[in-house]
Amino acid sequence: MKREWTFGSWSPTAQFFVGVFALALVTFTFSRLGLGLATTAFVYLMVIVLLSLTGRFFVSALLSTIAVAGLNYFFAPPFFTLGADLTRDIVLVIPFFVTSLIVTGLVGRARRQTEAALQAEAKTHEAESELRLAIDAIPALVWSTLPDGSLDFINRRWAEIGLTLDDLRGSQWTGIIHPDERARVTDMWRTAVETGTAYENLERVRLRDGGYRWVLSRALPLRDELGKIIKWYGVDTDIEDRMRAEAALRRSEAYLVEAQRLSKTGSLGWNISSGEIFWSDETFRIFGYEEMPSATVDMVLQRVHPEDRALVGGTIDRASGDRKDFDLEHRLLMPDGSVKYVHVKARRVDDETGDIDFVGALSDVTSSKEAAAALQEAQAELAHATRVTTLGELTASIAHEVNQPLAGVVSSGNACLRWLASQPPNIENAKQSAERIIRDANRASEVIQRVRSLAKKAPLQKVWLDINETVLETLVLTRMEVAQHRASLSTELSDDAPLVWTDRIQLQQVILNLVMNAIEAVSAVGDGPRDLLVSTAKHEADGVLLTVRDSGTGLDPEKLDHIFDAFYTTKREGMGMGLAVSRSIIEAHGGRLWASPNEPRGAVFQFTLPSNGEEAT
Ligand code: ADP
Repeated sequence: MKREWTFGSWSPTAQFFVGVFALALVTFTFSRLGLGLATTAFVYLMVIVLLSLTGRFFVSALLSTIAVAGLNYFFAPPFFTLGADLTRDIVLVIPFFVTSLIVTGLVGRARRQTEAALQAEAKTHEAESELRLAIDAIPALVWSTLPDGSLDFINRRWAEIGLTLDDLRGSQWTGIIHPDERARVTDMWRTAVETGTAYENLERVRLRDGGYRWVLSRALPLRDELGKIIKWYGVDTDIEDRMRAEAALRRSEAYLVEAQRLSKTGSLGWNISSGEIFWSDETFRIFGYEEMPSATVDMVLQRVHPEDRALVGGTIDRASGDRKDFDLEHRLLMPDGSVKYVHVKARRVDDETGDIDFVGALSDVTSSKEAAAALQEAQAELAHATRVTTLGELTASIAHEVNQPLAGVVSSGNACLRWLASQPPNIENAKQSAERIIRDANRASEVIQRVRSLAKKAPLQKVWLDINETVLETLVLTRMEVAQHRASLSTELSDDAPLVWTDRIQLQQVILNLVMNAIEAVSAVGDGPRDLLVSTAKHEADGVLLTVRDSGTGLDPEKLDHIFDAFYTTKREGMGMGLAVSRSIIEAHGGRLWASPNEPRGAVFQFTLPSNGEEAT
């Protein structure tokens, strides 16, 4: 708060009337008491001087004039006239007047000086308190010490961390330094004070609640004009939050490195204009290089498998030209001769300066590649096993299919012999019998071939296939089963079904599974029709659709989701693998296999196969 430092709080009018009243009082009292001129003049002077302490000079001058008139009128003979006995009264009144003016003048000057001094002091005080406010407002812990290094001031920020000047005064501040650092900090401070050099240190200080916070402590000496240190001023900046943030940051970097290592995925950056390539630790590890600040295209090409070098080189050239995102999989040939599969995906990033970078990820997919290959092999094994099982179930049909032509061969052979034995030998008929022998033998041989190829564990071999031909070839093997179960099998084969790019044996296996299931389903119903229909059709623009429809037991809608699961079977001797294997074969060819109820009864199994040449190759 600002203080009023003036005596002159009275207005000139008030000063004048108070003065007149005081003079009148003195005049009245003194004349009654019969006191003389000298005494009265002295008391008048006192009144005027006292009043001049609180008022203006001109009011004092006016009062002096009135006093002179009063003295003259009441106390200087002739009494009660203003006329003066010139020699005596003037000698007395003039010094009074002059004295009164000089004293009031002096008092006025002294007063003004005092006021100026007080004002200056007030200003200094105000400046000090403003400075104090400013120091308190600085977002740092400010302190000062005497030249000997003993603490004598702290700003208010210290209160925010629970510390007061009493906790720190003199050399007590060393008590709040973390014990691990106390000796070192004390030494450093002593050296700074002794040598007069700046102090800077990172230290932990204890708060009132017992916790510690990291501060950056800095201090500089203030010297007088002779260079003598008169004070030290210091600032401690609370950097706990920053330290914490950095530690978080460090932790998340560590997590990232660990995550990259676990996922075998490294990151990369590629600046097109400078050609610089940046790799994460994991990328260096995948490529099998020691870590260094940056990598080069040559380093990449050096590791790329020779057979993939053209692909990778081409991608790098293209990306530097058209600057489009890229995504490729290729192999690395490591110095120890091992092969790694990597998947690289990079996206273009334009920064505000117009510079273009690629930012990407590189995954080591060797193990998933190996797993996929192992899975494929396992599936092939499974497919083979189920095929062999199905063939086992088809033994009767197959035997029949082979026996029939063999029987034909025998009878045609006998006939041939008879025609030759007749007199004369009937050469023409014998020739026809021989031709029948050849035809039947070929038929038997074909069946055996087909069975052999189904039983063989042949690698996947895709060819352009006519779906109708494949259907007919397969149905031959089931003819006997159909007859045995008194089912009636018919076909509706479309003329416009396109060729499909598939493996013949696998496609036969699927058709065989579906037809065998249908035969079993119709044979499980007592009376009623036992119809089977296998039809083909064109599917969408360039695919085929194959449908196997039966009037069998039908499908339980609740089980519909499960019939394609491995080992799901409702048959006493079933394996539950037929549909699972069939679906994986069809999906591996880019198609779809599904089941639905038939009307009025039975089930419909359908699959599609795309004939998209590009996808197929
Ligand atoms: P499995 O024939 O050895 O049981 P599948 O995987 O071929 O194995 O068939 C699984 C199950 O699906 C069969 O047990 C049967 O319950 C059902 N299923 C398959 N085809 C048909 C069909 N045409 N009609 C009715 N149910 C069928």
